[in-house]
Amino acid sequence: MKLALLPGHAREKEGATCCAGCYAGFGEWALARAYLPSLAESLRERGLSVQLTQRADAGGTSPRYSARAANATGADIALEWHFNSAAPATQGCEVLYWHKSATGKRFASLLSERLADLLGVPNRGAKPIGAAPDERGYSAFRESRMPFFMVEPCFAGSNPREAELFGNLIKSGCFARAAGNIVADALGIVYGY
Ligand SMILES: [Zn+2]
Repeated sequence: MKLALLPGHAREKEGATCCAGCYAGFGEWALARAYLPSLAESLRERGLSVQLTQRADAGGTSPRYSARAANATGADIALEWHFNSAAPATQGCEVLYWHKSATGKRFASLLSERLADLLGVPNRGAKPIGAAPDERGYSAFRESRMPFFMVEPCFAGSNPREAELFGNLIKSGCFARAAGNIVADALGIVYGY
């Protein structure tokens, strides 16, 4: 099975900004870039083929280019890594999936549950995208040829406690290794790779 991993957003337009901890000031794009190479390595150790790509590789910064970049890899599954931002008290992990896919929902639910556990944050679960074209990342889900997911491990953009937890896990190398196992396990259970 081949997996495409993407950082959310782009260098020129980084999305939310990490609000506290050792990566305070990092945008979503920069933070994902800090751990995606190690995450890819840990997935390869589990026997998966992994290709890193990003919106800019397809020539743009909007979600449509996530789909194009993922499609160009020929991957079976694509995961784009973000973090959330809202009011300071909002917390938890969620994984976005295309609303018509029951299998996608199962994978997103499992991934969200286990990542929430790893981070020690509430599990917000699987979030369906696709009912309306103005939903978060709509074109990425709509135009990708493989099951496409956006992973939002926590509210590092607005919740200082979660930003610190997430930053410490990334810095220690634990996030990449543990998230690699979580993703590989969930792929095995749901997609049977
Ligand atoms: Zn984002």
